[in-house]
Amino acid sequence: MIIVLKPDATEAQIHYIEERVKKVGLTPMVSRGTQRTIIGVIGPEDVLRVTPLEVFPGVEKVLQVLAPYKLVSREFHPEDSIIDLGRGVKIGAKRIVPIAGPCAIENREMLKTIAKEIKAAGAQVLRGGAFKPRTSPYSFQGLGEEGLKLLKEVGEEFNLVTVTEVMDTRDVELVARNADVLQIGARNMQNFNLLKEVGSTKKPVILKRGLMSTVKELLMSAEYILSAGNFNVILCERGIRTFEDFTRNTLDISCVPAIKTLSHLPVIVDPSHASGKWGLVSPLALAGIAAGADGVLIEVHPKPEEALSDGAQSLLPEKFKELMIKMKAVAKAIGREV
Ligand code: PEP
Ligand code: MN
Repeated sequence: MIIVLKPDATEAQIHYIEERVKKVGLTPMVSRGTQRTIIGVIGPEDVLRVTPLEVFPGVEKVLQVLAPYKLVSREFHPEDSIIDLGRGVKIGAKRIVPIAGPCAIENREMLKTIAKEIKAAGAQVLRGGAFKPRTSPYSFQGLGEEGLKLLKEVGEEFNLVTVTEVMDTRDVELVARNADVLQIGARNMQNFNLLKEVGSTKKPVILKRGLMSTVKELLMSAEYILSAGNFNVILCERGIRTFEDFTRNTLDISCVPAIKTLSHLPVIVDPSHASGKWGLVSPLALAGIAAGADGVLIEVHPKPEEALSDGAQSLLPEKFKELMIKMKAVAKAIGREV
């Protein structure tokens, strides 16, 4: 249930309602918008049925949220959420945020080369995996803690926000100490303990849609993170499995505007993992922006043929630069900026 407050509701009235909700064993979650404040009620809300919340001072109306996700829903937070990634970068607002970098951090030199190139192209966010979820146990698994240290060092040197994947609950603290944004990979979208653990941090989280997950399941996974107290969640469409095998996965463009109607959270697209082919990355990134994505996640490598992972889908830095120019044009056409 959500309690919509009157525009002039006072702090004392909000506090009183919060206390009443807590008294019956439920959790109030307050969302302060520019227009009005909304209190989401989490837990078995039946206990409140006998409490006429509508007549409490400051309350305008009480709504039942039919969707199984509550805090993630548009009803709870009618305005778009804008998430601060640090270093002056915000996602979810007018400016679209390109996130670029290698699939895996391989060594200091390559990471610095890529950081320099993407920054010169105008990107402000550097990605790079230190813990890699590989299909084969014999494939490169990432540099682990050493990779995290390199990411931190290079992010600081080039003043770039850093994004990296965390795969294990035991590593959340370590990764959170070394990176600005935590990524939950597609394969871990329903690792509920991991979701709760990143929910207990205040770090922005990129939550990737599972390879075989519905939009509703993605939103339920996001709900885990929000209900643990972390509202800084960015949803990422990275391609789903379909019968089509020309591409690695199928980028579900339609989920971008769909999620925008269902949720207030920012949405980004990852055309690199979706297509698995570098030649398809730019058109899909542009399609994602045209469909309303708040950001794109692009794999970039100076020598894709030598990449330790995902070389076939990695853009050369000059191709990324060309994409940045095209993204600016598409963004402008829909009243946004890159
Ligand atoms: C990645 O971003 O490098 C990655 C492994 O992505 P996904 O979890 O979408 O496969
Ligand atoms: Mn990758």
